[in-house]
Order: sequence, then structure tokens, then C-alpha cells
Amino acid sequence: MSTGRIITYFVAAILILIGLGLAVIIGLSYIVQAGSGGSITIGLVFLIIGFLMIAGGVYLIYMAGRGKMGAVTENVTLKVDLPANIRLDTLKCRSCGGTLTMDNIQMVAGAPVVNCPYCHSTYQLTEEPKW
Ligand SMILES: [Zn+2]
Repeated sequence: MSTGRIITYFVAAILILIGLGLAVIIGLSYIVQAGSGGSITIGLVFLIIGFLMIAGGVYLIYMAGRGKMGAVTENVTLKVDLPANIRLDTLKCRSCGGTLTMDNIQMVAGAPVVNCPYCHSTYQLTEEPKW
């Protein structure tokens, strides 16, 4: 399972969970309490927003399952080009140890080049041998 797909499922899960929370808990409680501090209109708005978020989450899972990523994981193409054993979530600057993100890495002539935002050093990201 690729990192991009895991991120997609993670985002989808958050969308669905928040959607369920909005739709079921907030929306229904507003409708149930209509007339005593609640409002059917506000409840319906929450329900619609919740269902849209659930639909978005389901759509993301559907797209991830088909191997097509949405705009949420548009960095996937760049990640695939990086050496396999470099984990972006633990990537640190080799000069100052600062945590790097995908925004700090550019593809130059097919090779990933790090531009550290902390110490402003620039170097090519190479695969370190495991043996
Ligand atoms: Zn640095």
C-alpha cells in the first residue's frame, strides 16, 4: 500500500467521521429539539454538510481503490520518483537536522534535490545503502 493511498484513506476516514458527527449528532439533535431551542433548518444544513463530507470520503476511498488519487494527494507522483527507502515523514536535513517536507524537495534532472528552509543548504537526496 503506497503512502499516498494511506493518506487518502486517512483523509477519507476523517471526512466520514466528521460527516457522521455533524449529520447524526449535531443535525439530528437540532431537529429533535426543534421548538425547544433547536431548529429544523439548522439541523438540515448540518445533515446536508455531513452527508456531503461522507460522500466525499466514500468517493476518496473509491478513487484510491481504483488507483487514481484526487487533489488531496497530488504529491504522489513526486513521491513515487523518490528512492524507495526514504520515508518522507521522517526526512531530516542532513546538515541541521531540521524536519523537511515535500515542499523542500525539487526534482532536478530526474534526481530529488533538497532545499533546506532552516540552514539553506542544497544537496542531492541519495539513497543510503542498508548494508
Ligand atoms: Zn538544514
